[in-house]
Amino acid sequence: MLKKQIESWVISDIGLTEFDHWDPVLKFATRLSIRISMIATVMVAGILMVLNAFDILLNPLARDLAIGCSIAFFVSFTLTMLSSMYMGYAVIHLARTRLEFQQMSRTDMLSGLLNRRAFIEDLSHVERGHLLILDIDRFKQINDRYGHLAGDDVIVAVAATLREIAGSPHLVARIGGEEFAILFRDTDSAEVHALAEKLRRTIAGRTIESSHQTIAVTVSGGLADITPLRDFSAVYAAADRALYVAKSSGRNRLIHERELVRTPHADSTILDIADAAISAA
Ligand code: GH3
Ligand code: MG
Ligand code: MG
Repeated sequence: MLKKQIESWVISDIGLTEFDHWDPVLKFATRLSIRISMIATVMVAGILMVLNAFDILLNPLARDLAIGCSIAFFVSFTLTMLSSMYMGYAVIHLARTRLEFQQMSRTDMLSGLLNRRAFIEDLSHVERGHLLILDIDRFKQINDRYGHLAGDDVIVAVAATLREIAGSPHLVARIGGEEFAILFRDTDSAEVHALAEKLRRTIAGRTIESSHQTIAVTVSGGLADITPLRDFSAVYAAADRALYVAKSSGRNRLIHERELVRTPHADSTILDIADAAISAA
C-alpha cells in the first residue's frame, strides 16, 4: 500500500511519461538539483553550527557558513544536474524506443498503412461515420500471372492511392491480404459516396509498373454506416455483405448497405441485387 503510494508519488513528481524529449528532462534535472543542493546546504550549515558549538571551528562561524554553504550548494547542484541528465538521456532513449515499438505494432509493414488491430482499436472510439471495405478484384490472378512480388507492388500502389485521396481526417488501413478499410470521419453520406467512387475510379484508371510490366487493377467495395448503436463487428458485417454483392454483381463497383433491401429471404435479396446489377451492366 505504502509502496504503491510512494511509487505513484515518484512517477507523478518526475513526470516520467513525458520524458521523450529534452525539455522535461532539463526541467526535472533543474528542479531536483535545486532541491538536493538546498538540502545539502542546510546539512552543511547544521554540521558547521554543531562544530561551532563544540568550539572546533578555526574561523568565525559566519565566514565558515558562507564558504561551506556556497561550496555545498555549488557541488551538489552540479553533481545532481550531471547525474540526472545522464539518467534522463537513458530514459529518453527508452521512451523513444517504446514509442517506435508502439508505432510499429500499429503499422502494416508492406503498405505503411494502419494495420487491422490498430484500425479496429481506433474505430471503437468512433460513434458516427462511414466504413468502406475495398478488396482488389481477382488479385489471385495477378499473383499467378505477374508473380507474388508484383502482387506486393500492386498492394503498395493501391495503398498509396488510398492515402493520397482519403487523407486526414479519414483513417486508411490494410486489414487483410488485398483488403483495405477506410473510416470516413466528419463527412456526410453524399460526400463519402463521392470520395469512395473517386477512390474506385482512380484505382481503375491508373496503371502500376512492376518489374517492367504494366498492371491494371480494379477494386470492389462495400459501404456501411457507423452509428452509436452498432459495434465494429456489426458495421464490418454490413460492409462485408455489401462488398459480397459488389463482387457477385460484376466487380469494379461500390455497394452501400442501404442497397441491400431487407426482404423475408435475406439470401435471395443479395442474389436479386446481383442479378439486377448484372442485367443492368
Ligand atoms: P476477388 O475478386 O473475389 O476478391 O478474388 P481474389 O482473387 O482477389 O480473391 P482471393 O481471396 O481468391 O485471393 C486473394 C489472394 O491474395 C490470395 C493470396 O495469395 C493473395 N495475397 C494475400 N496477401 C498477399 C500479400 O501480402 N501479397 C501478395 N502478393 N498476395 C497476397
Ligand atoms: Mg480480392
Ligand atoms: Mg479478399
